Amino acid sequence: MKLVRTVADLRADLAERSGRVGLVPTMGYLHEGHLSLLRRAREECDVVVMSLFVNPRQFGPNEDFEAYPRDEERDTRLAREAGVDVLFAPSIEEVYPDGFSTTIHVAGVSEGLCGAHRPGHFDGVATIVCKLFNMARPDVAYFGQKDAQQVAVIRRLVRDLDIPVEIAVCPTVREPDGLAMSSRNAYLSPEERQRALALSRALRAAEEVVASGERDGEAVLAAARAALGDLEPEYLELRSADDLSPVERVNGSTLLAVAAKVGRARLIDNVVLEAE
Ligand code: AMP
Repeated sequence: MKLVRTVADLRADLAERSGRVGLVPTMGYLHEGHLSLLRRAREECDVVVMSLFVNPRQFGPNEDFEAYPRDEERDTRLAREAGVDVLFAPSIEEVYPDGFSTTIHVAGVSEGLCGAHRPGHFDGVATIVCKLFNMARPDVAYFGQKDAQQVAVIRRLVRDLDIPVEIAVCPTVREPDGLAMSSRNAYLSPEERQRALALSRALRAAEEVVASGERDGEAVLAAARAALGDLEPEYLELRSADDLSPVERVNGSTLLAVAAKVGRARLIDNVVLEAE
């Protein structure tokens, strides 16, 4: 595995390789969720590029950019073991040199849900992802369903700007007890980790009522809310899985998305409810 830190070195390295290039963007502190993306990229591509960059522009002023967990040595080892060919780990100055002035704003899908609670977050995401696409020029890029709104924003970005990349979405990887894997789970005390289970429990409760025939949105949300218990969500919402437009009934593929603060960790999770 080659470690590169500049765009020039990334381009020079990729120029020496041939075949289908897969990009897996990450902020590091790798867990099984990231590894599932890397494995799929390894299966489907000739060249696997992983980016490792904690992107300051997607964190709000009062968010956890400074505290975000980092362990480049471990990430490097795990990336090598997962068969990554090129690890791109640039500095902040490399990505945002003096004078950097451009922001990409994807309207519509970036509003509501996390967008309502994290002003500017999806502008930061769209801008870095667009830059990474231009830096690595991948044929395919891999993202996790765990960040469903991020996927919707990136799909819209790619369509709107005619970026020649295929977007592959991988299922959410969970701990055996249901907790969606996240680098931010590192913030949880043992007691908070138990409380955090309410998120996946709420999604499962919704799945169960839908499986037993319930289609009314309010009833499905009520089942999820009951399973959240005393955990107050930032949001708990049903949206069309395609374009994130609000829905009142579960029809076809419907996204149920939830976010909540547990201790200092802001956690998100979602499930796609399938109704015939
Ligand atoms: P992050 O490092 O948190 O920015 O995540 C990098 C990529 O891994 C994103 O595409 C995430 O959606 C994806 N990812 C994070 N957690 C999971 C998970 N539990 N299951 C599947 N993909 C995930």
